[in-house]
Amino acid sequence: MDPASRLNVLKHIYSVYETFAATVPSACRRGCAHCCTRNVTLTTLEGCHIVSHLSAIREADLFDRLSFALERRRFQPRITTNELADICLQGQDPPQEETESGETRCPLLEKEECAIYPVRPFHCRCMTSRTDCGETGCADMDPFVMTVNTVFLQYIEHIDASGFSGNLIDAVLFLQPEENRRRCTSGAPVARPPGLIPNRRVSALMIPPKHRQRIAPLLQKLNASP
Ligand code: SF4
Ligand code: SF4
Repeated sequence: MDPASRLNVLKHIYSVYETFAATVPSACRRGCAHCCTRNVTLTTLEGCHIVSHLSAIREADLFDRLSFALERRRFQPRITTNELADICLQGQDPPQEETESGETRCPLLEKEECAIYPVRPFHCRCMTSRTDCGETGCADMDPFVMTVNTVFLQYIEHIDASGFSGNLIDAVLFLQPEENRRRCTSGAPVARPPGLIPNRRVSALMIPPKHRQRIAPLLQKLNASP
């Protein structure tokens, strides 16, 4: 698939999810940003989508903020979603991920609003809670929504199988030079960038039996051509 087609598929996936998300009851509202932390992850294709948007706005300022955040602790995943699916398929235990907590405000948050909202990665789009996290201290996500989110993450990784995943800060800074973006979007072999992990194709979708029937219409929409 050529770079433009992959970007179109990514936008199609975002669009299908947006329609689904509009049907999910949630306490989320504009200006509520407890979930906007330095621990957000994404694929390099999503990162390229973000950087192409940054070029048109305050690119230098936002890159400066990301560079500053590089000095701070953040979640850096050790396995991707499709790798986790493969490990589960083989009946093995996945490695323990190191979680980050404490004061971890996302560097792209401005006055409780996202500076890159139209191109924010899927991990930000799929974050939702049935109760106000500010009051309860954590998100309360519907189990079916969690299944849908996992499947969408698997699709997003699949279409970028020659790319990488990782923390937003590491990925977007790696993609700052145009040459790195060109190499990542062209599907050409790229040496593993610092802090990022290689993506994989989907072997099996992680859908519990109780959600298979309910998720079927969404899969049909995902598989339809953009
Ligand atoms: S997930 Fe929680 S913190 Fe994020 S917008 Fe929804 S209610 Fe607010
Ligand atoms: S990228 Fe935007 S939506 Fe995502 S965590 Fe940062 S500020 Fe929030």
